[in-house]
Amino acid sequence: MSSILIFCKDCGKQVPSSEARDRLCLDCRVRRSVADLRDEHARLWRKRDRYRRQRANVDQIGVQIARVEDRMGQRIKELVSNDRQATDLLRRELEAARGQRYTIKGV
Ligand SMILES: [Zn+2]
Repeated sequence: MSSILIFCKDCGKQVPSSEARDRLCLDCRVRRSVADLRDEHARLWRKRDRYRRQRANVDQIGVQIARVEDRMGQRIKELVSNDRQATDLLRRELEAARGQRYTIKGV
């Protein structure tokens, strides 16, 4: 199958059209597909920080965070057939999610 290069409409990266859907590269499709879960993750993470400061029990929130991370993994697997690539993308999304709490802190 021959493939032409297109520019991803989100990040502007050049990707083969065979890898793009709706003119979005795989990275951007993954990012978009888990956006709501990432927000949920950030919310729980802040909640856990808050509880911890109050010396409250955070076990239950830890379970909720793990559940959200599982769902992110499932969504990424639906988009990415390659297991290794899916794992890499999930790791990156989780790193981004865990860092996100700083950028939206105080909101
Ligand atoms: Zn992109």
